[in-house]
Amino acid sequence: KPPAPSYKRVLLKVSGEALMGSGSYGVDPATVDAIAVDVAAVARTGVEVCLVIGGGNIFRGVAAAAGGMDRAQGDYAGMLATVINALLMQNSLERHGVPTRVMTAIHMSSIAEPYIRRRAVRHMEKGRVVIFAAGTGNPFFTTDTGAALRAAEMECDALFKGTQVDGVYSADPRKHPDATRYDTLTYRDVLANDLNVMDAAAISLARENRLPIVVFNIHGQEPFSRVMRGEGRFTTIV
Ligand code: UDP
Repeated sequence: KPPAPSYKRVLLKVSGEALMGSGSYGVDPATVDAIAVDVAAVARTGVEVCLVIGGGNIFRGVAAAAGGMDRAQGDYAGMLATVINALLMQNSLERHGVPTRVMTAIHMSSIAEPYIRRRAVRHMEKGRVVIFAAGTGNPFFTTDTGAALRAAEMECDALFKGTQVDGVYSADPRKHPDATRYDTLTYRDVLANDLNVMDAAAISLARENRLPIVVFNIHGQEPFSRVMRGEGRFTTIV
């Protein structure tokens, strides 16, 4: 295995589902706290860290549309769900002594700053962890695309995607135990084989901006810290 690259600035995408812990809905405070401890440890090494948090643990526009709701309206509700998660993550991070800012793509200036790219960069230069909430601010997109977009705007060295399994597989390993796990993939592999890692818009954006994606299991003993050191199992997409 080659030595772990040294990163200056990274974006971590945490799905809403990752915050549920063993539950099937909502937020498990202990799980949020465990992720915050891990992010705090990485931030303390001097790496600039920003986060994008999903909202699927609370609300998903696509699922609501399948039940008859207007898709765009459902998506706006989904974006608000990501703000709830972002505020909880901010609370946990600050309890662990990490200065943070939440910036939202949809303005709600009583509870968070509006997203302004240059201001976000400045926060990161000052050592603050910036949490980007409300996705891209547009319906019909996902927080994965929001993550690729913000990572490109912030000129991050890599996008880390914390998932429920330790990388990208040919099929869901929880349903297909014989699925193949990949150490490295190209953006093209992911798109051509329709691998279930991030939506095509997010992968295309990452490819255009030569933004490596590192997929790893967000659960366990400080997994983000470990993958930043190149330890454990993960999939790199370049
Ligand atoms: N969403 C959106 N535009 C965005 C990001 C998110 O409309 O740019 C909505 C969409 O309805 C989505 C929901 O917010 O289903 C929650 O985000 P996502 O499903 O990406 O969260 P995750 O899967 O990461 O928990």
